[in-house]
Amino acid sequence: MMEILNTITELSHEFGTEEYVKAGGGNTSCKNESTLWVKPSGTTLSGLKPESFVAMDRAMLSRLYAARPPEAAAEREEMVKTMMADAVKPETAGRASVEAPLHDSISARYVVHTHPAEVNGLTCAVGGQEAAARLLPDALWVPYVDPGYTLCMVVREAIVAYKAERRVEPAVILLENHGVFVAGDTPEEIRATYAGIMSVLRAAYKAAGVGVGDVVCADAPTDAEVAVWKRIMADAFGEEAAFVAVSGRFDIGCGPISPDHIVYAKSYPFEGVLSADNLRAFKALRGYAPRVVETERAVMGVGSSAKNAKLALELAFDGAVVRRLAKAFGGIKYLSDSQRGFIENWEVESYRAKQV
Ligand SMILES: [Zn+2]
Repeated sequence: MMEILNTITELSHEFGTEEYVKAGGGNTSCKNESTLWVKPSGTTLSGLKPESFVAMDRAMLSRLYAARPPEAAAEREEMVKTMMADAVKPETAGRASVEAPLHDSISARYVVHTHPAEVNGLTCAVGGQEAAARLLPDALWVPYVDPGYTLCMVVREAIVAYKAERRVEPAVILLENHGVFVAGDTPEEIRATYAGIMSVLRAAYKAAGVGVGDVVCADAPTDAEVAVWKRIMADAFGEEAAFVAVSGRFDIGCGPISPDHIVYAKSYPFEGVLSADNLRAFKALRGYAPRVVETERAVMGVGSSAKNAKLALELAFDGAVVRRLAKAFGGIKYLSDSQRGFIENWEVESYRAKQV
């Protein structure tokens, strides 16, 4: 057993770099007939050890697929959370990644799920689905649905339909406005599949005249400028804005791009004249203090810890890159109000954001 755990740990480190995931994003798993080992919720891929993985009883997990969940989202997620906790084997502590049932639903031994900007330039684009059919014809495209249980059930059905048509399960699952799942029975398969996806997409971006390096930051503001902004934000939000990560201005573009962007950077940034009144007005309208603040001279990640502030800025920058790349496929497609609302109110995700 140790061997597959060592292998998935290696893969987690390989695909846990900035190029593939940000913060606690992405998750990995390996499995045998009876057990699924999956990344714990609120951890980072790069920090995983073989003993970090949460072992889940696959027979117990399968009860989830047959359950009749309550209609209301909150009650449904509560039921799923309980059933998932029950499936965790006593020898491993921790809370399994919310995507554990999705990992379990794929037959291959190893599954590596990430959110590379190159992939999201496709999955978050207006013409993403058509382009995917052309560029990655063997990939399974899954239209956006709420993550967690709903996503898992939709993917299960989609895999059955794919298999009925092509006689094999997909090695690549593209999740609209989210990222990619890559499955394989060997680490070599996982690596080759990822390399194939990245090279096809890079060629498409090159042909369209866009690239990951296109988003550039202007000169950083002075410390004196930052000090003034920090005072204004602290005045409006106190502890919530205690830490600030600063970058020279870049073209952030705004709006909810994917679940991870919403979790770490919120759906919308604050833009415009920075005053305590304007900041409070933003919070009154949106229901949250902004995590990303844009001024004439800077983009700032804001949070209650240095880490949260840094992550917000990182995700804002990643969102800018995704938006730039999406131009190759007709431009960015944001999540709808009800789609982003589900994420904003999701207990599981707020747990994850707190852990990281
Ligand atoms: Zn994800």
